[in-house]
Amino acid sequence: MRNGPSKIFLRLQKQGVRLTRARGAIIDLLIKKQTFLSLADLKKGLERKKVRADRTTLYREILFLKQQGMICEIPMGGGKKGYKICEDGHHHHLICIRCNKVEEIALKNTLAPQEKEIARLRGFMVLEHLLEFYGFCEDCQ
Ligand SMILES: [Zn+2]
Ligand SMILES: [Zn+2]
Ligand SMILES: [Zn+2]
Repeated sequence: MRNGPSKIFLRLQKQGVRLTRARGAIIDLLIKKQTFLSLADLKKGLERKKVRADRTTLYREILFLKQQGMICEIPMGGGKKGYKICEDGHHHHLICIRCNKVEEIALKNTLAPQEKEIARLRGFMVLEHLLEFYGFCEDCQ
């Protein structure tokens, strides 16, 4: 399994990330889902696990894991955001709008040439880009 639990915790260990109870529980919740979880989902999951984490703690943990490159923030419709444990490195997502499955995809053609073109033509320095694909997965077509 590409995102096997042991691999995730190994990655954390390698990065010297301290595992607090809340952090461990959040990662645990995310590992068990191959889809994304919203903040509300995570809050509910933590309550079920009897792990105390207020909103601020949850936000802080999510931000931390994002900065560590452990999780991705996935824009879902209506301003909602989902979180998912992902592979290292630059990638995009295939998001099924029926079953909410999210898969990672690395593009054969990166957008680097376009970013250079944008800088040349528009004088805009691109720092990052977001590109997600929304549609139906194989099972949902
Ligand atoms: Zn991702
Ligand atoms: Zn689907
Ligand atoms: Zn890209």
